[in-house]
Amino acid sequence: MSPKRDYYEILGVPRGASQDEIKRAFRRKARQYHPDVSDDPGAEDRFKEVNEAYEVLSDPSKRAAYDRFGHAGVNGTAGVDPFAGFADIGDIFDEFFGGGFRTRTRRAPRRGQDLQYRLTIDFEEAIFGTEREIEFEQTTTCPACRGTGAEPGTSPIRCPTCGGRGQVRNVRQTFLGQMVNITTCPDCRGSGEVVSTPCRECGGRGQVRQVRRLTVNIPAGVDHGTQIRISGEGEPGSNGGPPGNLYIIISVRPHRYFRRRDDDLLIKIQINVAQAALGHVVRVPILTPGGESSTELEIPPGTQSGQVFVIKGKGVPRLRRDGTHVGYGDLLVIVEVEIPKRLTQEQRELFEQLGETLGEAVIPPAHEKGFFERVIDWLGGE
Ligand SMILES: [Zn+2]
Ligand SMILES: [Zn+2]
Repeated sequence: MSPKRDYYEILGVPRGASQDEIKRAFRRKARQYHPDVSDDPGAEDRFKEVNEAYEVLSDPSKRAAYDRFGHAGVNGTAGVDPFAGFADIGDIFDEFFGGGFRTRTRRAPRRGQDLQYRLTIDFEEAIFGTEREIEFEQTTTCPACRGTGAEPGTSPIRCPTCGGRGQVRNVRQTFLGQMVNITTCPDCRGSGEVVSTPCRECGGRGQVRQVRRLTVNIPAGVDHGTQIRISGEGEPGSNGGPPGNLYIIISVRPHRYFRRRDDDLLIKIQINVAQAALGHVVRVPILTPGGESSTELEIPPGTQSGQVFVIKGKGVPRLRRDGTHVGYGDLLVIVEVEIPKRLTQEQRELFEQLGETLGEAVIPPAHEKGFFERVIDWLGGE
């Protein structure tokens, strides 16, 4: 490289130029020589030169060293990063491309976050539906400052840390030279504006936490794990974005007698050997919107343990995707025959008499597992 030119000369400013004049001159020159813009073959070198000059003259301590010692005062060790002025170049691009490019990205409308609420309801409520008032904490736009964070009557000012750009440049000295790192401004968090008089209501955050009460309608036929979406009841959006949704995730408490499989209810009934052999009428509990009720079920003579009887339409309301009901599932009654474990003397004699009239033990042929056995398996372990 040819001998270094004077930094003031490069920028075309007098030695006593103010920081503002230096900055303006830099922007003008950088725009002129930016390699992406200029066709001049020497532009890249000139561009580096301009950046180097600005890097020194924009920093008061480097500028003072340069004023006293010339190039030797600032280039002694690590050298100067040719692209150190990058953050400022960004501004130039904003001007080139209609401005506001970064402004738009950092202030883009953002949808609010979704909220989740776990709601535990009773078995019957899941089947027949219910209405619940729920309470949850929600962030909302501060009503006092309408989200600006500025005390009513005042307004946010341009952030002094980043000059409204929303980004700051950190220069680090490393053994490879200067490393320049552009990060979101910590003071305005990228918005380019700060509040000089924070809103007393929200402490300048523009948002407040508040307890929200909401009455939600749980439709009939929901099940464990069902999600109910309540549109627009999540966290509010920012910069004019829409709010998120509230999702209610249903947990269902188990029932003492009933189990549920999709739209069907299952219940187990125990009868004794005589009832199974002779037939019997049993009362089976059923669930109704008004509470528990019961119905009669006729167990025919010769009923086997594990046999299933279907009571039509006494199950769970069938829910279509759009929430409308299309009939009901069934109630499946699984009959279990109790073999007595202890017998009185009289019972023993009666069984012995009975046994003499019945046949010997047989080994039936193996057969495929049927539906009823599968139901029993599913209920298994109880
Ligand atoms: Zn406020
Ligand atoms: Zn800032």
